[in-house]
Amino acid sequence: MDTKLSIKTGQRPPVVGRFAPTPSGRMHVGNAFSSLLAWLGARSAGGRMVMRIEDLDPRAQSQERASKLMDDLLWLGLDWDEGPYYQSDRTELYEEALARLDARGLTYPCFCTRSQLHAASAPHASDGTYVYQGTCRDLTPAEVKERMRLRKPAIRLRVPAEDDPDGTVCFEDLVYGPHREVLAHDCGDFLVRRSDGVFAYQLAVVVDDALMGVNQVVRGHDLLGSAARQAYICKLLGYRTPEYAHVPLLMAPDGRRLSKRDRDLDLGAIRESGVSPRHVVGKLACAVGLAEPGEELSPDDLLARFSWEKIRRHRGDIIADGEFLR
Ligand code: GLU
Repeated sequence: MDTKLSIKTGQRPPVVGRFAPTPSGRMHVGNAFSSLLAWLGARSAGGRMVMRIEDLDPRAQSQERASKLMDDLLWLGLDWDEGPYYQSDRTELYEEALARLDARGLTYPCFCTRSQLHAASAPHASDGTYVYQGTCRDLTPAEVKERMRLRKPAIRLRVPAEDDPDGTVCFEDLVYGPHREVLAHDCGDFLVRRSDGVFAYQLAVVVDDALMGVNQVVRGHDLLGSAARQAYICKLLGYRTPEYAHVPLLMAPDGRRLSKRDRDLDLGAIRESGVSPRHVVGKLACAVGLAEPGEELSPDDLLARFSWEKIRRHRGDIIADGEFLR
């Protein structure tokens, strides 16, 4: 074998990471933590960052909140090279991708109501959504026509049968290691467009990451269960699957995920309290063994210390109580 050639072809392309915030409220320390790791993942490898505002849902469309999110990231010392892109400007691209799936007979309209779904489903193991039982999978054209008169359908993507190897998705998460899902068993046919016409996150995120050249997806562990669906869409659309790194979540002391409700740990309150960004970054870095207790640092200071191996060693959930930033 020509070793020169194999070294050359074995070279990794530069890492392209992304921030993909949904502007549904102010960023909290949990979002800041996954953003810090996304930035370190790309920048420590000499890579680039893309900023994409995930405002597909009309309820999340707020320029003011998006601007605040971006301002909070810059305050922390987390920058990007490209964007901001707004998903709300990109619906034609999702439309095209959906048309390609549709042309291959891979999608179908689903008329199930929320309560029907709830009643006819088994709970999903990894992300709490329901395993679709295929109620609308084999409707006849006449049945579809009839139901169309009553309500607007959502659109689902067919997944291969449980015993078809094409429906088993395997990947190696940079933090959580090997992950395997049998789509038919773990989620069933899944939504690519909602009945109100809004494209599903699963489709948009794949199209955007592929078209923006993103090859490293870093985000909270709560989205690990979505990655198999996304990797499956990638394959159908002929895109290369990005590397996935799902990172620990920051949890409230009672075991809840931090959320918008934890106002004292949102960036608005944190900035008002007068703490410095170096203090916040130091605390976040300390939680995954990248800094000593009490160290105050900028993201740049962490570049030489960062490795996915270290994050793997600290992959338990992180408890963030009122004292977290003290
Ligand atoms: N927009 C999602 C969020 O803010 C993140 C999606 C992703 O990283 O794939 O939670």
